[in-house]
Amino acid sequence: MIPHRFLGLMRDLRSAVGDEMELMVDGNQRLTVDEALFIAHGLSDINFTWFEEPIPQDDIDGYVKINSSVEIAITGGEQFATLERFRPYIERRAYDIVQPDCGIAGLSESIKIAEYANNFGIDTYPHSWHNGLMAMAHAHFVAALSNPRVVEICMPQGPLQSAIISGGLPINDGSLQLPEQPGFGVEIPDNLEEEFPFIEGSYAIVMNRLPLLQSGR
Ligand SMILES: [Mg+2]
Repeated sequence: MIPHRFLGLMRDLRSAVGDEMELMVDGNQRLTVDEALFIAHGLSDINFTWFEEPIPQDDIDGYVKINSSVEIAITGGEQFATLERFRPYIERRAYDIVQPDCGIAGLSESIKIAEYANNFGIDTYPHSWHNGLMAMAHAHFVAALSNPRVVEICMPQGPLQSAIISGGLPINDGSLQLPEQPGFGVEIPDNLEEEFPFIEGSYAIVMNRLPLLQSGR
């Protein structure tokens, strides 16, 4: 039921945006291997670029099985902090694309992960689900890769995404421009603490999806 609904929504999305736009989707580790295989085959047919973390991250055998069985690129590793954690996934081709997060693994370790993956013909496109400053860190990381292509920018961060940088994110004509200045090449506004005071609790809004699914919406 859920795999059919999932794939149906992705087909609707593909029809809505046409064939030109690249599309990727995240399973957030919530599927079984069989569900993931069904969805991955369907996503290949509608030309999705990648299917991210379809099953729980520790199920390396499951990832190897899925990635060797489907055309679409299977990606993952956003919560892995070291090359050692990535190593068996790379060596066994559990992923077609690795997604270290520089906010978790750090820039230097992420470079090591990307270089090791590259030896196996595996590309790196980092997970980047933070504010604008981390988007800039990831932009520099991607620019240093042997096959740079895409930087993820987390839109649900709202104003913190751009207002954390003086002058906002340096986006020009749809592309993030890398500044020439040292470091990340951007400045933080002086009044950031007043603009964005610390608020106790989770940054996320917790949402219970079950009633929505049960009502078929
Ligand atoms: Mg993800």
